[in-house]
Amino acid sequence: MNGFERIKSALEGRQPDRTPIMLHNFMMAAKEAGYTMEEFREDPKKIADSFIKSIEKYDYDGIMVDVDTVTLAGSVGVPIDFPVNEPARSHLGCLSSLDNIDNLPPVKVENYKYVQIWLEAVRLLKEYFNNEIFIRGNCDQAPFSIASMMRTPQEWYIDLIGDEKNAHKLLTYCTDVTSQFIDLMAETGSDMLSNGDSPAGTDLISPEMYTKFAMPYEKIIVDRAHENGLPYALHICGNTDSILEQMLDTGADALELDYKTNAQKARDVLGGEITFIGNVDPSDILARGTLKDVRDKTIKIINIFADTPRFILNAGCAIPSTTPSENIQEMIKVARER
Ligand SMILES: [Zn+2]
Repeated sequence: MNGFERIKSALEGRQPDRTPIMLHNFMMAAKEAGYTMEEFREDPKKIADSFIKSIEKYDYDGIMVDVDTVTLAGSVGVPIDFPVNEPARSHLGCLSSLDNIDNLPPVKVENYKYVQIWLEAVRLLKEYFNNEIFIRGNCDQAPFSIASMMRTPQEWYIDLIGDEKNAHKLLTYCTDVTSQFIDLMAETGSDMLSNGDSPAGTDLISPEMYTKFAMPYEKIIVDRAHENGLPYALHICGNTDSILEQMLDTGADALELDYKTNAQKARDVLGGEITFIGNVDPSDILARGTLKDVRDKTIKIINIFADTPRFILNAGCAIPSTTPSENIQEMIKVARER
C-alpha cells in the first residue's frame, strides 16, 4: 500500500498494511523548508514545496493542507494580522452588534486572495503526488468558529445567551461562507475535506451549547462535503469527551481530536464506526517531550485502536514549528514498527 491507499483504507474501515500517519505540521513544514510563515502564506508554490519536502524527509501517508485559522474570517471582513513568523490571526471583530446581522453584505469567498492561494496549493500537491500520498484540503474554520471571530469570542459567548435568534442568523451566514470553501476545495481534486471548529469544544462552551449552536451547522457542512462526493473530518480543540456522541451525529467520516480528549473514551464512543485521527500532545510530547515520552505516548494510542482499522495517527492539533525533527521521526518509527 502507498500512503494514499493506507489513509483511504482507514477512512473506509478496511485494514491498512500498517498504521496510517497524517501530520498537522504546516508550521514545522514551512520552517524546515526555510520559509517564514509570511512567505508560506503568500505563495502556493512555497506551501506545496514545504509539504513535499516534509513527505521526503519523514515519509508519512497523508498531508493536511493548512495555512491558518482566519482565512474565512478575513474573507468576510474580519481585520487580520499577518505576522512574519506566525500564522495569521485576528483580534477584532467585524460585526459590532448582532442587530446589524441583516445588513451583512453577500460574500464570495473566492474573491479573497488567501482562499485562492490555499486552493492552488492543494491543486499543486494533488498534481505532484497524484494517488501516492493522500491530500486533505482543510477548509479553514466551521461556522461557529467564524461567527466567534466576526463578533470576537467575548461578545459571541454573550450573544449565545442573550440573543439566540440573531446568533442563529449569523451562524446561517457563516454556514454559507464555509460551504463556499468546501465547494471550491472539492474542485481542486482534494481527497478529503475538513474544518476546524476550534472554539466549539467544552473548554469554552457547555455540551448543551455545542449541541444547539455548533453541531447543527457542522452537520450541514458534512452533508455538503458528501454532496461533493468526498469524505470529511471535523477537528475540535481541547477536551471533547462530553460531546463525542454529538460529534458522531454530524455524520463526519473522521474526528480529529486534541490530546485532552480521552482516546480510550473516544474509541468506546466511536465504536469503530468512524475514524479517529489523533491525538498525540503536540506541545508537551512532540515539541517538548523526550524520545521516550514520544515513544510511550505513541504506543499507548496505537494500542487503544489496535482492534479497529479506523485509526490515523497524528498530533491532536497543530504541531509547533519548534518541534525537534527527531521527535517526529520517533513517532513515525514507532508507528511503522506496528
Ligand atoms: Zn486544535
